Amino acid sequence: MWAYLNGEFLKSNEAKISPLDRGFTFGDGVYEVIPSYNKKLFLFQEHLERLRSSLNKAFINEPDDLNNLEDTLLELHKRNIHKNQFFYIQISRGTQVERSHLSNDRLSPTVFITSQNLEDNPYRIDPSKLGLKIRLEEDLRWGRCDIKTTALMGNILSMHDPSLDPVDEIVLFKNGKINEGSKSNIFMVKKDKVYTPPLSQNILPGITRNYVIQLLQKNNLILVEEEISTDFVYESDEIWLTSSTKEIQPVAQVGDYKLPKKKCDHIWKRILSLYI
Ligand code: PMP
Repeated sequence: MWAYLNGEFLKSNEAKISPLDRGFTFGDGVYEVIPSYNKKLFLFQEHLERLRSSLNKAFINEPDDLNNLEDTLLELHKRNIHKNQFFYIQISRGTQVERSHLSNDRLSPTVFITSQNLEDNPYRIDPSKLGLKIRLEEDLRWGRCDIKTTALMGNILSMHDPSLDPVDEIVLFKNGKINEGSKSNIFMVKKDKVYTPPLSQNILPGITRNYVIQLLQKNNLILVEEEISTDFVYESDEIWLTSSTKEIQPVAQVGDYKLPKKKCDHIWKRILSLYI
């Protein structure tokens, strides 16, 4: 696969970054994930804006590479064969020879971009496919989850605990309130109203979340953005997860609890077809 490193296109297995890069030594970097369908980037400006915001909040200098990011991604799409792809744009604060927590202002950020095949959302192909299995867990991450940092130990830790059964997603809560999934945002439906936790420093401002909210509003569906207690999960008629790579996907089971089968139309199916 072709990749991009600091201004150059190269084969991803030939890309080399110094072990003194702060991305490696401190997990000191941010990233962005952008999907493209049929060589067209989806919600590119929104993703670029969030990337700039993550850099800004992390006090990382904005690299010049962002000025032609759209062309760079389209060039990668051309070089890599898949029809639909998603791009990972990783930016660290840069390489620093002498280890110190405090970095030098003049560091030049490292920019590394890869693309991968974007699998079709299985619920596009078969909306009656059994929904995902999730588990609720205490959110042990840091207090700035609004920054899309590459330091994701808090998101991935329990997935590697061999004593726990594998699930499709872990939904994180703090002080009894639902935050988000470890790699997605969450929506819940009760009595035809759609609920999602509000933006805060505890969750990522998901680009798909925002797009889904716009779709709900344009279609006169009721959206409630408010703090949601963990009990609400067991009273919901529907639960869905959203992300740029998964789009919108329904949940069928939370731990051992199976969501009741809904007789009337599912709102998630309507939103997914609007999204498509
Ligand atoms: N929250 C977290 C923690 C995530 O990792 C992701 C996926 N990047 C999301 C939410 C969804 O964000 P988006 O819709 O922008 O992909």
